[in-house]
Amino acid sequence: MQDLDTQNRDFPEISDLIIKIREGEEETMTVYSENQEKMGRIIDSKVTKSKWRDWKWQIAHSIKDLETFEKVTGVRFTDEERESFKKTTEKFPFSTTPYYASLIDADNFRNDPVFMQAFPSESELIIDKKCEMSDPLAEEKDKPVDCITHRYPDRVLFTVSNVCAMYCRHCTRKRKVGDQDSVPGRDKIKAGIEYIRNNPAIRDVLLSGGDPLMLSDSYLDWILSEIRAIPHVEIIRIGSRVPVVLPYRITEELISVINRYHPVWLNTHFNHPKEITASSRLALKMLADGGIPLGNQSVLLAGINDCPRIMKALNQKLVYNRVRPYYMYQCDLSEGLTHFRTPVGKGIEIIESLIGHTSGLAVPTYVIDAPGGGGKIPVMPNYLISWSTNKVILRNYEGVITTYKEPDSYEQIYCDRNCEDCQLQLMLDDADESKAVGVEMLLSDYDRTISLVPENNERMERRNETR
Ligand SMILES: *Cc1c(COP(=O)(O)O)cnc(C)c1O
Repeated sequence: MQDLDTQNRDFPEISDLIIKIREGEEETMTVYSENQEKMGRIIDSKVTKSKWRDWKWQIAHSIKDLETFEKVTGVRFTDEERESFKKTTEKFPFSTTPYYASLIDADNFRNDPVFMQAFPSESELIIDKKCEMSDPLAEEKDKPVDCITHRYPDRVLFTVSNVCAMYCRHCTRKRKVGDQDSVPGRDKIKAGIEYIRNNPAIRDVLLSGGDPLMLSDSYLDWILSEIRAIPHVEIIRIGSRVPVVLPYRITEELISVINRYHPVWLNTHFNHPKEITASSRLALKMLADGGIPLGNQSVLLAGINDCPRIMKALNQKLVYNRVRPYYMYQCDLSEGLTHFRTPVGKGIEIIESLIGHTSGLAVPTYVIDAPGGGGKIPVMPNYLISWSTNKVILRNYEGVITTYKEPDSYEQIYCDRNCEDCQLQLMLDDADESKAVGVEMLLSDYDRTISLVPENNERMERRNETR
């Protein structure tokens, strides 16, 4: 049988890749590769296929030290590497599931994208004091209560778990990894739910962590039921990496829990096509068949996926498995991530290689999460190359330069947000009458603001002084 969990080892042509996905269709349901069987036996002499595929077995046998990792994967380290492992894990702990470790190519592990995401590197101890921070997104500052980050008007990040199946080396919340003190108990979760209940503007709740799917079915059931009972919450989102690092966590029972609280969306975190294995595809299939809309958030990582061909293959494979690429993140300025960071130009180059060249469904939005807490900012190549009063000049992905003639007779409707008198039919009982903010406000007719000036702007301060 083809060893599907380790396919694409040496990264074939994209056309090969697509054919392989199709060929794999029938045999995916039973995969348990020879390599996994061998590893399983080293870890637990009584292992069976069904034990290997039991997520609790996987967690109970998480690999957390170098000796076990060597024994199980067959990888051998130099003394120097051992020393550096020890130094690095004193600050940032190591943990991986046997499943995720089984994807590593032991013969060429140093360049292996799975190895590089899971295994500590001494580079994590290099901190660029000029710009790196332990909490670059100021998530702690935007916290009205312990488990809630409220940054945007209508949605909150609700960190309900600090446990992860695998410790991603590129974690943006690296400051918290392995920090047992911050496991939120029921009272902290209750405080978060209370906050959401008291803020009717919140219509979207993102469960994150840690990994919310590392909670037990019953605890998750309780959290979801409490949130669903709040009338103004429209959608719930779960951010989870278990489909990638512990696909066996996706069980029929879990799906039936989630299905009680729809609409629930799930965003997962694949970074490389190699992670889309038979097991993870089965997990995705179960979720999609269960009616849970799926998205993916990847992070641009130097030496792992900073390549237009890899990103195209990843995004196409995701769409093939009914996962919509949602965001591609620029790597955050978190301490210990220097070696993973790429120039922004690399991300733009990747988006350039996707837009037009492949299905729009396979193109994520490239975002930079603003240091200091400004939120996600989309970045794109420029397609609008010039503009006059009645025409715009655009270029397409092939380099074709084209014009779009704007209408001569567009009747500008003056908008004072008096929706009752407007001929456009908004048709919402509870039309949002709130004031526009930021750049949206500058574009509006109903607000007189002509510029947004940062606080402490020296030029403005000078004006005030001379007045
Ligand atoms: C990413 C994020 C969200 C959700 O943002 P979307 O663009 O709606 O996906 C909400 N709150 C915080 C703090 C976030 O970081």
